[in-house]
Amino acid sequence: MKIIVLGAGVIGVSSAYYLASQGHEVVVIDKNKSCGLDCSYANGGQLSYSHITTWASEISFQNFLHTFFSKNSYSSFNRFNPETISWLYKFYKNSNNSIARQNSQKLYKIASYSRYLITKLLDIEDFDFAYTTKGILHIYRNKSTMDKAINNLRKLDISGIRPLIYSADQCVEHEPNLIKALDEKKLAGGILFSDDALGNAYSFTVNLEKICREKYGVKFIYETEVKNLLTNFKKITAVNTFHEVFNADAYVYALGYHGDKLLKGININTDIYPIKGYSLTTKCNAEFIAPSQAITDVENKIVYSRLGDIFRVAGIAEFGANAQMNKNHLRYINENMITTFANYGNIETATQWSGIRPFRPNSLPLICNVQKYPNLYLNTGHGSLGWTLALASAKILSDIVDNKLSQEFDFLAHENITI
Ligand SMILES: Cc1cc2nc3c(=O)[nH]c(=O)nc-3n(C[C@H](O)[C@H](O)[C@H](O)COP(=O)(O)OP(=O)(O)OC[C@H]3O[C@@H](n4cnc5c(N)ncnc54)[C@H](O)[C@@H]3O)c2cc1C
Repeated sequence: MKIIVLGAGVIGVSSAYYLASQGHEVVVIDKNKSCGLDCSYANGGQLSYSHITTWASEISFQNFLHTFFSKNSYSSFNRFNPETISWLYKFYKNSNNSIARQNSQKLYKIASYSRYLITKLLDIEDFDFAYTTKGILHIYRNKSTMDKAINNLRKLDISGIRPLIYSADQCVEHEPNLIKALDEKKLAGGILFSDDALGNAYSFTVNLEKICREKYGVKFIYETEVKNLLTNFKKITAVNTFHEVFNADAYVYALGYHGDKLLKGININTDIYPIKGYSLTTKCNAEFIAPSQAITDVENKIVYSRLGDIFRVAGIAEFGANAQMNKNHLRYINENMITTFANYGNIETATQWSGIRPFRPNSLPLICNVQKYPNLYLNTGHGSLGWTLALASAKILSDIVDNKLSQEFDFLAHENITI
């Protein structure tokens, strides 16, 4: 079958890989000049297979209120309109304990499959993306927050998650760069999720794209922005771009947040909302020995990742799309980095970046076939976990296309899209 994949982010390229390796003729279209240049470009790099707590259960309404009154916070709102209010209401409904637990259990299934697939992929394909498997250490500034997190993990009741509880001293033994946080009494302890991993999502996307092209004959068409999807009410007939019209037997949507308006144009509402995040990236050198352990600062919602010879700090939840960089948010990340580590490199030369996470109220991605248009498939809405879930999402999607999806993932067919 000839399949057009829309979008060459980590989700689109991974989808192209499995579709092509399952024998399909695949063409990928993207508006950028090469792959991985949007939300997959400078993200946190964390493969958080165990950190599947949904944002609805993690970010409380107290935190939301806090953002209105604090300039120095990890979240903010750009605008309030009926779309925001409706989305927040759905987000709030997903914070219910039992619903949140079910959502986390579903996320865990997809994430575990991704962990399995990355090992399988690296058995077959040979490429480098600064992949390390030393786990992720979640650090806590307050003992009470840490106790609550341990308690929540117990309630989740997922036997595959194997947390190791560390005292503040043990955290420093594990990652000596945390000595400053310990000395200044800003470290209460940590939880090491040893099955989690780290990798550069951009390098991964670029390398996998090359494999797709050279080994599986996938065609990539860049600098081609999709204008709309053409339909005859029963199926997608073509993709209309600013250059020309493209046809295929089937179409996979993997355009992240920016393409969502195309779906709205054919009356598909995915409930995807833009939540912007920021990162700072510095070069490691002889003076700056960055932490080698991947770290998540849970209370401040910041991740620290050493990816080969670069060190990346990422975080922030800015609700509502906005093209400008918010200096307060960059300052927040910067200050956290400086106050956490004894030696933080030359922050003046750090590269600033922002990306828009395509977020759904329940934190679950949409990986499904659209009933109204049977030749349209969605692989989108991965929110804060797109890198972690990419391989599983892509493999699940190609198995849906080939009608051979394992029953284990049947729940994905019940995800709501309103038409
Ligand atoms: C600050 C930050 C930190 C993050 N950290 C992590 C992390 O540590 N771990 C993790 O798992 N996830 C993380 N994420 C989330 C992850 O980066 C995203 O979920 C993931 O990149 C989404 O991938 P995607 O392929 O769906 O979207 P994208 O990478 O945005 O790809 C979509 C593609 O579609 C193209 N496109 C859009 N519209 C059109 C159009 N009309 N025509 C043609 N092409 C179009 C774009 O050019 C782009 O290439 C983070 C995100 C941010 C912002």
